[in-house]
Amino acid sequence: MRLFGKVANEKGNVLAMTAMAMVFLLGCAAISLDVGLLYIERVRIVNAIDSAVLAGVQHLPNRPELALQTAASYAQMNDLQVDEFQFQLSDSNFSLTGQAEREVPLHFARIFNQELGLVKARASARVASTSAVNGVVPFGVSEGNYQFGDLVILKRGAGSFISPGWYGCLALGGTGADIYEKNIKFCYNDRVSIGDFIPIETGNMSGPTTFGIKYRIDNCQHTPRCTINSFVDGCSRILIVPIVRVSEPDSGSVQVVNFAAFLASNYIGNGNENAVEGAFVRYVVPGEIDDRISGYGLYSSYLYE
Ligand SMILES: [Zn+2]
Repeated sequence: MRLFGKVANEKGNVLAMTAMAMVFLLGCAAISLDVGLLYIERVRIVNAIDSAVLAGVQHLPNRPELALQTAASYAQMNDLQVDEFQFQLSDSNFSLTGQAEREVPLHFARIFNQELGLVKARASARVASTSAVNGVVPFGVSEGNYQFGDLVILKRGAGSFISPGWYGCLALGGTGADIYEKNIKFCYNDRVSIGDFIPIETGNMSGPTTFGIKYRIDNCQHTPRCTINSFVDGCSRILIVPIVRVSEPDSGSVQVVNFAAFLASNYIGNGNENAVEGAFVRYVVPGEIDDRISGYGLYSSYLYE
């Protein structure tokens, strides 16, 4: 009997231990399911808030209200509810921070009286002066003091030389009228960086300049027509231009010292009268940044938090 009793006892112990192990394992599985759920929700709101601040920051520093509106609409497009996020501007409207919080209903943690889990996300993006960029046009504007809205001569006619024989045209990716005109119409797609030396395109290039700029101006079909105070991002009239230093007039090249954006406004005249004017605007483009540069209003954005 003692023997049977011992076996029965041991069976009971094994059952009890198995039951405890089952509870423990189920608990672990339940917790990992809830943890997985929280993880997935957190990834969702992190991605939503990152894309929202990156979209909003494209309008800084000159259109802060639009930056906030854009960030909010991106957040909602990515399934954040209005009461789940907020955005703030800082750093003189050069940066935009977003926070999101979401309460996630839990399934298994309810057995521990935990019905909701809180996930949070935070992201900041800012704009800083562009130090390298793809997509410039083949004009070199001399460094100087410009105010936003100023009309600046991007390509000169005769009689306003900075350097004898140079009308402000650049030879990007090769010389000659065809390459030059193509670079005006479709931009120069390789990267140009501050510090680069670019060969000058000699000669007036009157015809290719007129064809190229007419193409860019005519391709703005926006209504109302783009102006310096209100233009559509990516408009064909926006020209990214290297700001250059002519250190040695006879060297055959100029050095890039900065970048600026202009809204192409006018092209005039033929031959020695041929010139292009652009209005100096602030603009954000994809590119490399350098916080140490005091720029000319061309910015690139990045996430820093
Ligand atoms: Zn336009």
